[in-house]
Amino acid sequence: MGIRLHFWGAARTVTGSSHHLECAGRQILLDCGLFQGRRQEAYEINTHLALKPEELASQNGTALSAVVLSHAHIDHSGNLPGLVKQGYRGPIYTTPTTIDLCNPMLKDSAHIQEGDADFMNRRRWGRRQIGAPPGVEPFAPLYTQEDAEQVLQQMRPVHLHEPTILAGSTRDEGFSVSLTNAGHMLGSACVLVEAKEKGEKTRLLFSGDVGRKNLPIIKDPDEAPSADYLIMESTYGNRLHQPPGPVKQKLSRLIKRVTARGGRVIVPAFAVERTQQLVMLLHELTEEKQIPDLPIFVDSPLASKITEVFREHTDDWDEEISGYFKKGIDPFGWERLRYTQTVQESKALNDLHVPFIVMAASGMCEAGRILHHLKNGIEDPRNLILITGYQAANTLGRKLVDRLPEVNIFGEPMRLRAEVDSIGELSGHADQSELLEWMAPAVKGLKKVFLVHGEPLAQQALMEEIHRRYGLEVVCPARGDRFEIS
Ligand SMILES: [Zn+2]
Repeated sequence: MGIRLHFWGAARTVTGSSHHLECAGRQILLDCGLFQGRRQEAYEINTHLALKPEELASQNGTALSAVVLSHAHIDHSGNLPGLVKQGYRGPIYTTPTTIDLCNPMLKDSAHIQEGDADFMNRRRWGRRQIGAPPGVEPFAPLYTQEDAEQVLQQMRPVHLHEPTILAGSTRDEGFSVSLTNAGHMLGSACVLVEAKEKGEKTRLLFSGDVGRKNLPIIKDPDEAPSADYLIMESTYGNRLHQPPGPVKQKLSRLIKRVTARGGRVIVPAFAVERTQQLVMLLHELTEEKQIPDLPIFVDSPLASKITEVFREHTDDWDEEISGYFKKGIDPFGWERLRYTQTVQESKALNDLHVPFIVMAASGMCEAGRILHHLKNGIEDPRNLILITGYQAANTLGRKLVDRLPEVNIFGEPMRLRAEVDSIGELSGHADQSELLEWMAPAVKGLKKVFLVHGEPLAQQALMEEIHRRYGLEVVCPARGDRFEIS
């Protein structure tokens, strides 16, 4: 009776979100995220799914019958093409905005997977060898563009607050879900699962990633609905953020300082959400004449595509940005802003000898065009490298934040002489007090809380605080742990 819960990803870590649920003979997955980490380990983990291929493709009624996706970030959506590659052909339910964001994001991820497989093969049999030597089986990419395309075919839109009975279930047996706004990124949702078996009902709330109030562009998170059990993220379970409000003043101050000394501002930025937030804030600062009149570039083809999705989904915008729309102003475009597309346009920025701002991915400086801008600008003390998001251990971004005197870019040692500063105010993840506040309306009915999507230290701190403040039982499951709840 009740739900059998199987934790498969984002268990005591912040990557690879995936939870398997079973009730009344039906099986569903919440999220199917990509595990990101060292190449070989990530490949191993990502090819082992919670269900075996024969269970994914089985037609005998015991197979996986539905997937529900909380939001488009790759650590939640990025292994859906792997699931499809291994045989899953059922529906993937998520918000209409998330479907549109997954289109460019999953194709980009497939492109990276193809490149990674190529890299591993070349490393094994040497750069000069064309094709695999006799008797060597080449590594296949985790998935390809075609698999990403297939995922998009299987996606089914679910609007917020509209209860939906999942495929394979009925009104009286199995699963239905209702989505609420998570306020974490455009299109993000929390998932309230209702599981029914023999007339008994169990409600499980999955937070996905919980956002924050007053973030630019997106609406504030909805209150947590009541539930019997909660699976909650804990990324910043031991941290308190700066409020997002004063970020504009800080940006203005930094940009003025760098412009006055003739430098450029190099901004590693995630292509989704962070780039659009920064573009909107820079637009406001330009209009209000709080920054000098200087050229601004978004040098990321993926970010350009994502910005188009943002423009189309005005229904997800908060009041502030809707105000622009009503006045006929494009918040993501004005005459000083350029979206560069070609590699030539990107390279031409190196020869620009006036102050400018350039935003490029990847957000943690691991790949992408940002590396070229860093290579060209890192040794000039007039420049500023502006970090705008979380930097994981061992990434180039973290080394810049830690101000190592020398870093490697494209295998070449470079001296870090540019200024480095960070703005953490735009973080899309609730901090400890915001998580506690978000879950508060649901506390009365909760029997137990499962913490996921957090490093052990963050989880420990949040677990103690939930227990102390609300007197609830809290568990931090490990990968593969199973629970029965009713
Ligand atoms: Zn996320």
